[in-house]
Amino acid sequence: MIEKLVIANRGEIALRIQRACRELGIKTVAVHSEADRDLKHVRLADESVCIGPPPSAGSYLHAPAIISAAEITDAVAIHPGYGFLSENADFAERVEESGFIFVGPKPETIRLMGDKITAIEAMRAAGVPCVPGSDGPLTEDNSISHELAQKIGYPVIIKATGGGGGRGMRVVHSEAALLNAISLTRAEAGATFGNDVVYMEKYLQNPRHVEFQVIADTHGNAIHLGERDCSMQRRHQKVVEEAPAPEITEEQRRKIGERCAEACRQIGYRGAGTFEFLYENGEFYFIEMNTRVQVEHPVTEMITGVDIVKEQLLIAAGEKLSYAQDDIKIRGHAVECRINAEDPVKFIPSPGEITRLHQPGGPGIRVDTHIYAGYRVPPFYDSMIGKLIAHGENRKAAIARMHTALSEMVIDGIKTNIPLHQDIMRDQVFINGGANIHYLEKKLNL
Ligand code: ADP
Repeated sequence: MIEKLVIANRGEIALRIQRACRELGIKTVAVHSEADRDLKHVRLADESVCIGPPPSAGSYLHAPAIISAAEITDAVAIHPGYGFLSENADFAERVEESGFIFVGPKPETIRLMGDKITAIEAMRAAGVPCVPGSDGPLTEDNSISHELAQKIGYPVIIKATGGGGGRGMRVVHSEAALLNAISLTRAEAGATFGNDVVYMEKYLQNPRHVEFQVIADTHGNAIHLGERDCSMQRRHQKVVEEAPAPEITEEQRRKIGERCAEACRQIGYRGAGTFEFLYENGEFYFIEMNTRVQVEHPVTEMITGVDIVKEQLLIAAGEKLSYAQDDIKIRGHAVECRINAEDPVKFIPSPGEITRLHQPGGPGIRVDTHIYAGYRVPPFYDSMIGKLIAHGENRKAAIARMHTALSEMVIDGIKTNIPLHQDIMRDQVFINGGANIHYLEKKLNL
C-alpha cells in the first residue's frame, strides 16, 4: 500500500481525500498556500508544507513546489483532487518522472481526453454515441464547412478542441453567420488555449446533462457506477446534482454504462473518470470526459455504496477493483446541493469569517465540508464551501430530506446560496424531474 501521500488540493475535497487515506492507513501531507493555514485538513494532516502565496498560480498550480513538498516529506504518491492541476497532463508526467505515483490516469490518457477531437475519435472507436459533427478539425476550406453545416443542420456549434470551463464555443443559427463564427472561435481559442483547432457539432437545443461514473484498474478491469443528472446549472456551473438520473431506464443505464466501461478498457484507462453526455429525446451524445474525481461523486457513492476515493487510492497502489459489474446495485436516490459562499440572488462571492455554524444531520444526510465556526473563507479561491447530500429510498424522499437538512443548516457571518437551494427544492419543475440544462437560468431570469 501507499505509505504517505501528498494532497495537492484544498477545501472539502482535500478533507475527503484525507479521510479515505486515514481509512486505508495512508499518512497524509497537506500542501497549502499562505492563506490556507487554518484549513481543517491542514490541521488534521500528519504533516503540512506551505507551498506559496495565496494566488493559486504561485501555490496550488505551481508544480515544482508540490513535487518538492513530496520529496522533502518522503511521500510516494500525489492526489490532485479536482480543479487546479488534476487534468494537467504535463503535471502528471512530471509527477511520474520524479518517481511518484500520480493518483489518476496515465499522462497520455489525460492528454488524449483533454483534446476534445481526439477524445471524440477514441469514443467513436469504442462505440460510444457522439454528437453528429465534423469528424475532426475544420479546415481552411470554407465550402467544406458550409456543406458540413448544411448536412448536420442548423443550429450548429463551433468548439475549440482545447477548450474548457464552458469557454471557446459559439452557436451558429444560420449560414450567413457561419464563417465569421469559425474565424472568431479560432482566434479566441488560439489566444485563450494556445491551440486554434476548432470543430463543428450539431447544437442540441434542450438537452439534459447526464454523466456516467467509471472506475478502472491497471489489470484491465473497468466498471460503471451508473449515471448522474447535473442539468441544474448556472453559467455552465453545476448547482444541484442527483443520482440516478430521472427517467433513465435500467436498459439505457446498462447499454451506455457498458459502452463507457468498454471505452476505458480500449484506451487503457486507469482510476476514476466521468463520461459527460448531453441527453435529448431519449438519445445520449458524448461531449467530453473528465479524468479525475468530480465534485458530485458523493451522490453515486450514496446509491452504490462504493467509496470512489478509496477505489482511486487502491487502484493507484496497483490493486484490482474491489467490485465486479454485477456487484453494483443501485439503492434509492441521492441529491447534492453545492453550498457556495455567495449572495443567493446576485451571486457575488461572500468571503469572510463564519461566526456560527450548525450542520444538519439525521438519516440519509451527508455533509462534505471543511468549514467550522471561526473559519475565515478566503477570497482567493472558488466560492464552494461544502456539499450537502441527501439520500432516500426514492427521489421524493431524498428531496424531502434535503429540504429538512437545508432548513437546519445555519452558516452565519457570510452569505450563502442556501436560500436558492431551498427555492429549487420547492420548484415544481425540479420536483417533476428531468428539467433541461437551461431551466435554472430561465427560472432565475438570466
Ligand atoms: P467544457 O470543456 O468547456 O466544459 P463541454 O464540451 O463540456 O465544454 O461543453 C460545455 C457545455 O456547453 C455543455 O454542458 C452544454 O451546456 C454546452 N454544449 C456543448 N456542446 C454542445 C452541443 N453540441 N449542443 C448543445 N450544447 C452544447
